[in-house]
Formats: sequence, structure tokens, C-alpha cells
Amino acid sequence: MSTISHNISQIHDDIQEASAINASPEKITLVAVSKSQNFNKIIEAFDVGILNFGENYLQEALDKKKHLEKFPIQWHFLGPIQGNKCKLIAENFNWVHSVDRIKVMKLLNDNRPSNLPPLNICIQINTSGEETKSGIPIKDAKAHLKELIQVLKELPKLKLRGIMSIPSNTKDAKQVIDEFKAMHTLYSELKNEMSSIDTLSMGMSNDFKLAIEYGSNLVRIGTAIFGVRALKTQGVDN
Ligand SMILES: *Cc1c(COP(=O)(O)O)cnc(C)c1O
Repeated sequence: MSTISHNISQIHDDIQEASAINASPEKITLVAVSKSQNFNKIIEAFDVGILNFGENYLQEALDKKKHLEKFPIQWHFLGPIQGNKCKLIAENFNWVHSVDRIKVMKLLNDNRPSNLPPLNICIQINTSGEETKSGIPIKDAKAHLKELIQVLKELPKLKLRGIMSIPSNTKDAKQVIDEFKAMHTLYSELKNEMSSIDTLSMGMSNDFKLAIEYGSNLVRIGTAIFGVRALKTQGVDN
């Protein structure tokens, strides 16, 4: 077995184990984060059943997508979004996890081709309290999301699927758990308000088991599948 297929099989076991601990186990979607990994690695993961791939850098993602045209892959955009990138993102991705402002929502909607199904989006929430991080600060998330949901009703080419977070980069497990719990609470509240909401996107290589225990149903895993990334993009690019 190759390293990648071995890693994926280990992660499937871990996901199963963690979802058994979760009080209401759901189907968990695994997004393989392939940023700064070459397309041969993507094919290896695809060959063992991975259909969802996450990318952070638009140009790199477009190159890979073109190369892998024949593969029925669902592409997820995870990186920070600048206004001038919205057109290409709306044309080329199935999901965007890092939406955090109205202007971007409108641009994605206006540029989504009519022959494609609505673009799935998650709103990024900043649970860490660090102001330099992207996302809507968790402390005023509820009010903000209400406003975004109102705007979304006028944007038919977007489908709000849920919320996404990147927790604090800390070894303090209690801090991370508190952030996961806050996300889960927010997610449960939102689900009551909008029927399209079914996705809590949290958990990466180092914390996906914990994230699932606290209610995540979509994990975004890079390093634990593909190994460490090339230096330029090591770590979370946020
Ligand atoms: C890079 C990245 C990941 C994957 O991180 P790993 O630690 O390699 O699993 C997940 N989500 C986002 C938003 C990222 O930028």
C-alpha cells in the first residue's frame, strides 16, 4: 500500500472511532487538502475513493483542475478571498468555505455561471479572538449571520451549507474544545433557521478527531494524508 492510501485508511478508522464518541454520529465528509501537493498525489487519493479536494491558492488550483479535468472531483476553496478572485472561484469550484463578507457573497453569486448548480458556501467564523485571522468574530456571529442570511435570500446562485472555523493554534486542548463547542452551538442555532444548513466544517490534521467528537461533520485534512507541504505554504494560510 502506498503511503497516501495507508494514511487515508488510517484516517477513515480514526473518523469512525471519533464519530462513535459523538452523541449523534453523522456521516462525515473528508476533504483532502491538496494545496502545494502535486497532482499525482491527488490521483493517488482519488484512486482510493477520495472525491473532495481542498485548495487555498487560486492559480495553483486552476492548474490542477485543468490537468485533472477527467476526474469527477468536487473542488473546495479554503483560502482567503480577494474580490478580484471571485469570478474564477465562482466558475471553478463546487464549495467555498472561507466566505466572511457580503461583498464577496454578492460577487460569487453574480459570477456563478447559470448552467452550474448553486455554489455551496460556508461562512468562516473566527473562534480564536485573534484579530489578524479571517472570519466573523464568534462573539458577534449570531447577529452577523442573521444579516448574511437575509442577504443570501436574494442570492439564488449561492447555497448556504454551514459554517467553518480554524481554531487557535495552541497545544491547550481545553481552549480548542471550547472553540469547537461554541461552533457547534452556533451551528445548531443556524440549522433551525435555514433548511439548507447541514455542514459544520471544522477539524484538520492535528485536531480532526476532537472536532468530530464535538459535532463536526466535515473535516479538512492535508498533512496527515499527503505529508508535509513545501515550505512556502507550511501551516495554515490564513
Ligand atoms: C491548510 C488548511 C487545512 C489543512 O491543514 P492540515 O493541518 O495540513 O491538515 C485545512 N483547512 C484550511 C482552511 C487550511 O488552510
